[in-house]
Amino acid sequence: MKKGSVLVFGGAGYIGTHTVVELVGAGYGAVIADSLSNSEASAVEGVRRITGVDVPFEQVDACDEKALRGLFERYPFDAAIHFAAFKAVGESVDDPLKYYRNNLTSFMNLCSLMREFGRPDILFSSSATVYGEADVLPVTERSPRMPATSPYGKTKQVAEDILHDCCAAYAGMRGIALRYFNPIGAHPSALIGELPRGVPQNLVPYITQTAAGVRPCLSIFGNDYDTPDGTCLRDYIDVVDLARAHVAAVERMVQGRMKSSYEVFNIGTGRPVSVLELVEGFEKANSVEVPHKFAPRRAGDVPAVWADTELAAKELGWQAERPLEETLRTAWAWEKHLRGME
Ligand code: UDP
Repeated sequence: MKKGSVLVFGGAGYIGTHTVVELVGAGYGAVIADSLSNSEASAVEGVRRITGVDVPFEQVDACDEKALRGLFERYPFDAAIHFAAFKAVGESVDDPLKYYRNNLTSFMNLCSLMREFGRPDILFSSSATVYGEADVLPVTERSPRMPATSPYGKTKQVAEDILHDCCAAYAGMRGIALRYFNPIGAHPSALIGELPRGVPQNLVPYITQTAAGVRPCLSIFGNDYDTPDGTCLRDYIDVVDLARAHVAAVERMVQGRMKSSYEVFNIGTGRPVSVLELVEGFEKANSVEVPHKFAPRRAGDVPAVWADTELAAKELGWQAERPLEETLRTAWAWEKHLRGME
């Protein structure tokens, strides 16, 4: 018997597809909604192949209130997850309105329809970016949020605030924000994964494309930070582990186990890994070379951030499980699948 059903907005994207797979595996029904503005319909096929379920897909832009309303009328889902946001930091600086309009309008539309239709549970994709350059590491959920350094980061903070305020004001509304650290890797089937368009901005897709010969050389941005090897420290979380955190959060909401109407959880491993360690770990795990060189620091990068994961372990009963080496193997398997290298 189905446990309940979840509307997954942005469900054709990188984290969305993996989350739908885990939801279906855990016995939930799912409806994928996505504008396909930064994703491909083939990703939905990948989800269907992995799960063996003909998961419904609706091409809808969440900024289109009328179209979104149609989904609420057609599908009796219990909870909704909002992944439908643009995420390129640099682009958000160049075109802030694009980010405010898309990321916030879509989220407000979703919240107001959830309220109108009496569907209480909203899960929001937030980010460790809300912590900025933290004074104390690892960051806990009680660490202060720092002023955002990009419009992208600001949309994450404002959307958290919107959810907080809605859950405080509207009786019955419940919300969880998951603050992701650095999601990497792909599904072990290599049927879904990250599909960066153009030159990748993030480290792991840049590594995999360099290993595949698509890019000649990886630039490591900065080797003069105050860290053990001089490169930045991050908390790299396997995307399947991350997807499972969403299932745990949905269960907490729909089973009425929340301690207050709005909650926030860090989703990371709790382990800092340097950029250099990650590159070398990738080479070793996959027996491939990744040509790399040191380059100047990238504007806006914080030297180090990693998660305190105690709250997620205690309250969600969730923790990261997949070893980094395995995650890096899935990242490479996915790149090879994309390039037809198998
Ligand atoms: N990075 C790098 N070269 C690249 C892309 C990223 O050295 O081509 C570094 C970046 O400076 C940061 C880390 O890798 O220290 C993670 O960057 P990413 O953009 O993946 O995630 P972020 O932590 O910025 O959200």
